[in-house]
Amino acid sequence: MTRPAHKHDYQPRQDILDRFPKISGNEVNGLGEKEWRAPSPFFWHPPDKQTHGGLQQYIVSQFRPPSIEDRSFRNPTVDRGPELVAVASERQPGGADHWTPAIKEFVLADEADLVGVTPVTPENVYTGYEIAEPTLVMIGVAHEYDKLAQAPGSPDNPSAYYDLHDQYNRAARVAARLTNHIRALGYEATPFLGPMGGALNMIPAAIAAGFGELGKHGSMINRTFGAGFRLSAVATDMPLHMDKPDAFGADDFCLNCQVCTNACPPAAITPNKHTVRGKTKWYVDFDKCIPYFGEHMACGICIAVCPYTRPGIAARLIEKMARRTAAEDGNAGAL
Ligand code: SF4
Ligand code: SF4
Repeated sequence: MTRPAHKHDYQPRQDILDRFPKISGNEVNGLGEKEWRAPSPFFWHPPDKQTHGGLQQYIVSQFRPPSIEDRSFRNPTVDRGPELVAVASERQPGGADHWTPAIKEFVLADEADLVGVTPVTPENVYTGYEIAEPTLVMIGVAHEYDKLAQAPGSPDNPSAYYDLHDQYNRAARVAARLTNHIRALGYEATPFLGPMGGALNMIPAAIAAGFGELGKHGSMINRTFGAGFRLSAVATDMPLHMDKPDAFGADDFCLNCQVCTNACPPAAITPNKHTVRGKTKWYVDFDKCIPYFGEHMACGICIAVCPYTRPGIAARLIEKMARRTAAEDGNAGAL
């Protein structure tokens, strides 16, 4: 779906601005900080564990339509997977060669579309939290593109918003079932379910697990699903082989693409990279995004318009970037 560039004339409602704390969300996120540090809990964490909890509660109370209740990830009666079982007393033998394909097969035979393995690192764990197990099984589930493409949701057309909840619930079910499967084999396992934040910072973990590259819109770009997917994870002490990051030219493509920047109503997507907690990366202005995101059913315009998200386009873009890299390498060799 092609959209005209937004006029960027959105003005946040005063009642939302009034709920912002004195500290900027960009400061919480470490924008401009030159030294590395672990990420701080932010907007999606429990309200009492972060600076913007009051804002989160206000947005949820004001802008969620009652019609979402029967599929909301906040509704305890919605199916987000089975009750968790205890770890079996007897541990089934096997090394990483055995368990890695078995676990990946289990995840993909369930409701998931992506699976990858990566170690727990300090970058993946929010300040004030701990993850006991050393390894993460990252899980991805794809949006239904036709619904996502209608973002943002509205009371008249909540399709994209409903799909967001449906996919987070699907990812949660896979993580819960995988947790029980690993526990039944006698290994420790702890699920991490989105979108409410816990110990695990999912995006860097998923990038490390080979799900894709960070895009200018602050979400990941996967070589099959573009930016149209959601995450969950299971931490475990089961022996597993680690995956590697998958770089296919998306970062380079973003340098010259302005589709999400132009489409974002509050102009929250910054056109250039920034230093954030010691790393140079794409960055979305939290203080500009959140009011629009809150007022418009979790928005999602930026991931919907990203060319990689449109079915059938990602493969062509990857090929194009590979050709460009090959030509540049050839030119360099001729120097
Ligand atoms: S989710 Fe945020 S960054 Fe993305 S288009 Fe909406 S307002 Fe902009
Ligand atoms: S819309 Fe363009 S600039 Fe934005 S993340 Fe996608 S490819 Fe990158």
